[in-house]
Amino acid sequence: MRTPIIAGNWKMFKTMAEARAFAQEAKAGNNTSGVQKVICAPFTALAALKEELAGTDIAIGAQNMHFEEQGAYTGEISASMLKEIGVDYVILGHSERRQYFNETDETVNKKVVAALAAGLVPIVCVGESLEQREAGETADVVRAQTEGAFAGVDAAQVADTVIAYEPIWAIGTGKSSTAEDANETIAIIRSVIGERFGQATAEKVRIQYGGSVKPENIASYMAQPDIDGALVGGASLVADSYLQLVAGA
Ligand code: PEP
Repeated sequence: MRTPIIAGNWKMFKTMAEARAFAQEAKAGNNTSGVQKVICAPFTALAALKEELAGTDIAIGAQNMHFEEQGAYTGEISASMLKEIGVDYVILGHSERRQYFNETDETVNKKVVAALAAGLVPIVCVGESLEQREAGETADVVRAQTEGAFAGVDAAQVADTVIAYEPIWAIGTGKSSTAEDANETIAIIRSVIGERFGQATAEKVRIQYGGSVKPENIASYMAQPDIDGALVGGASLVADSYLQLVAGA
């Protein structure tokens, strides 16, 4: 059985003080077990969040990193810098990074390799645009992104990663995918992992759905056989709402 994982993606929201306030509230109300909990915060809030969440089962994640260990890369942050803070997860290849910061399958792959080498769990985002969906290209898009992200990675390492299927048209729009459609695409992603890395890896890797998930609809996604949790933006910004998502998983 795969342990469900609910990851919040705060994007470019919350100062250090706001992150501390969230953590104190989340800590006080954190009474669901059997679900892996992760908050992916801006770099500047990670240390404060780690300090506040010490002794809880809520892990912290970053939303990006560079693939090099160090060097003349102004403005960038490496995997080992994240590890030093106590970060366990890192979102890689989010569609906003692909769209606004020119991330490609190739750079995502380099980041996946570097994250795994440093002992971080990558949450690899894949998903189609509305145009691609309407053109019937969803399966091809998620296949190419999945194969690209994990090129050259060992099956055993792939098994311990997390994939987030996030149709771009559903992110931050309030237009969520139906649970059945999300499950169908997630099953395709799982079969791609099976073809490339074997059935045991496909059965172990966790695949989340992301795109306008809220406390009101989380149960419908979790009822699907291939959906192992959610990557949540907007609804993860309020502690009570995040805890409701966890309880719904
Ligand atoms: C996201 O940021 O990955 C996301 C899915 O956002 P939202 O839940 O707000 O659609």
